[in-house]
Amino acid sequence: MFEKLCNETLLVETKAAALKEKIQTSRVLDYLVEVDRRRLWLKEGYASVYDFCIRYLGYSEGETHRRIQACRLIQKVVEVKPLLENGTLSLTSLTLLSPVLEKTNAPDLLHKVINKSSREVVDILAKEFPEKIQKKEILKIVLDEELKELLEQAKKLASEKDGAALLKKVLKGFVRQKKTRNTVTPRHTHRVQARTVREVRDRDGYQCKYVGQNGVRCNQTAHLQIDHVRPYALGGSSRDLENLRLLCRAHNLAKAQLDFPRWEKAPQITHRVDWGKGQKPWAGWSGFRTQ
Ligand SMILES: [Zn+2]
Repeated sequence: MFEKLCNETLLVETKAAALKEKIQTSRVLDYLVEVDRRRLWLKEGYASVYDFCIRYLGYSEGETHRRIQACRLIQKVVEVKPLLENGTLSLTSLTLLSPVLEKTNAPDLLHKVINKSSREVVDILAKEFPEKIQKKEILKIVLDEELKELLEQAKKLASEKDGAALLKKVLKGFVRQKKTRNTVTPRHTHRVQARTVREVRDRDGYQCKYVGQNGVRCNQTAHLQIDHVRPYALGGSSRDLENLRLLCRAHNLAKAQLDFPRWEKAPQITHRVDWGKGQKPWAGWSGFRTQ
């Protein structure tokens, strides 16, 4: 197909395809914003929109990070969207801008970074925002197989995708532990005995038990909570293992909202799920009904 194209046509068509790609990327961001607004990832069995992008959409961690940052920025600063679409601002540059870009500085700052490489954007930001964009030292570590595996497990358990942030978290914990000799008592879920909590955790494999209607199991392994299938407030047992299961925080909150639809003022429900027009609250949430 391409062999027959003359050089001029090949260049013009390549340019047109690249532009189309940028418009498509911008369209994907629009879809993602709406999916997130409706919290659809939660219903389908994903622990976060981040997890949804990786497992459902097939993006890598880096691609996901850049898209989520972009989604946040296009909602905050409207000037960003046309620049993404015409290719004068890349997703990578946008990610670099995310800690500092505000509505107020957008016209000036965007003008300085359009059509610049990401390296140039880093230099501009370091100059403009020396207090926010710190010069970072690069630490090179050779990872053997065991360390690589440990790092992946730790990232999952800590729900932390950024290696440097994880290292900081681990080191802080280590230093705190060494400084204070007090042993930390694990927090137990109220009303459920510690022994029962351990049994439920072992049975559910230390992973959120929610399975979406398409058979996708939530892969969240951090911040797990004990959920009462039949709520305690409605007479559900805290001793019967069949009535207990592990849910991540996001799925446990969604379940609480389904169990108590008029419980508007429950303090822990900060983001109410948008059910969609004409949808009955429990429709499609089969994952909460099955053990
Ligand atoms: Zn979950």
